[in-house]
Amino acid sequence: MCGIFGISGHPEASHLTYLGLYALQHRGQEAAGIVSVDDAGVARAHKGSGLVSDVFNEEILNSLEGTTAIGHTRYSTAGGSAAVNTQPFLVRYRVGTLSIAHNGNLTNAGALRRGLIESGSLLQSTADTEALIHLIARSEQPTPEAQIREAVLKAEGAYSLLITVGRVLYAVVDARGFRPLLLGKVGDATVVASESCALDIVGARIVCELEPGSFVRIDGGRVAYLDPLPPKPLKRCVFELVYFSRPDSQVFGESVNLFRRTLGRRLAQEQPAPGADCVFSVPDSSNAAALGYAEEAGLPLEHALIRNHYVGRTFIHPVPAGRDAKVKIKYNAVREIIAGRSVVVVDDSIVRGTTSRGLVAMIRQAGAREVHFRVASPPTVGPCYYGIDTPTREELIAANHTVEEIRRYLAVDSLGYLSREGMLHASAGDPDRFCHACFSNQYPTDIPADATTSGYVAELVRSI
Ligand code: SF4
Repeated sequence: MCGIFGISGHPEASHLTYLGLYALQHRGQEAAGIVSVDDAGVARAHKGSGLVSDVFNEEILNSLEGTTAIGHTRYSTAGGSAAVNTQPFLVRYRVGTLSIAHNGNLTNAGALRRGLIESGSLLQSTADTEALIHLIARSEQPTPEAQIREAVLKAEGAYSLLITVGRVLYAVVDARGFRPLLLGKVGDATVVASESCALDIVGARIVCELEPGSFVRIDGGRVAYLDPLPPKPLKRCVFELVYFSRPDSQVFGESVNLFRRTLGRRLAQEQPAPGADCVFSVPDSSNAAALGYAEEAGLPLEHALIRNHYVGRTFIHPVPAGRDAKVKIKYNAVREIIAGRSVVVVDDSIVRGTTSRGLVAMIRQAGAREVHFRVASPPTVGPCYYGIDTPTREELIAANHTVEEIRRYLAVDSLGYLSREGMLHASAGDPDRFCHACFSNQYPTDIPADATTSGYVAELVRSI
């Protein structure tokens, strides 16, 4: 998963992009990059591994001159951590400089890349996004708009894209609209970002959320809405609202906070825990759902699990790790809240089950009398091929075990998931507009045998 931010028509474009990426850090902590373009069309790039604050400093930002910029934060992935995969990609082609930042995952990346290699393209990265660059650059259409349109119409799957050709910024959202992309204004400048929290941090107001199929051209801050892509059934990623987006963001036309609170309320209706003394969340992504559960159940909300926010991705275990060491490094239990009580623990989802099991052991050690585990989404039964980096089906506990088997594995007194209907109807909008494939195995596109969940095409690396 990734976060993208773009700006046009601002004298401090790279500085604002840095701020925007900072707000989108939760969407990707593995690497970050910015490409800026000055009014003469000269592009400059800086990219690196790590957090946004590690990759950039004042001197670097000052060197990224220009009034147009795009940026990208990248999520850690299983097979694609090489530096060549860090975005935005920047190349020079016959029209000028071309850069691209992508949020999503192309399901037909393997076929696109094979076709490009067979016709003579030299691919450097293992990222699906690189195929789009080649398709744009090889297009024989007369204008950048037509070249981009021709390229994206060959792509299947999920893409919210920011592209610069010279100093002109383009924003494109695939016709199903898997990933959010919002457009805002700060003064005369125009900003485009994955979530509204990135508009807030630069003082921009929301103009609109780009509709699925949107194709927008922005030059000097002026926005032109180009002909949209041919329509397809909407497939907004419900997991953005359940887990991925920040709770202070607006995505898909609704408040993430309110959506999660409603999930919690519905969860309390569907999966009550009679006799429980209190409710608490697995922080932070489950906080709003736990609040909704507590409100609906009429139980006190406690802060009984404390999360250490300073655990970096690269934490090295200084002593041989025990079974629950990873959980203990990230969380601790507040004993005086838990001891002797029957507790309801609310989490947003269970993926492998290992973290949940470690948390339950910690809660038991803190003296809980009963542990009732509640999940504010349905069982996760399938991987995502549209840009959320989930494990394989074999690793998903709910894909291979019944709820009762999972309850026994977690060692809880009761386990309850929210129903699919309960999740989808937490929306203030049309519940039919969501993709819920990871909860239902109802994939809205073909999934080729070589489709990957990470956006990186390992098979082609081996074959090059
Ligand atoms: S499969 Fe799940 S995570 Fe992926 S786009 Fe659909 S709802 Fe979102």
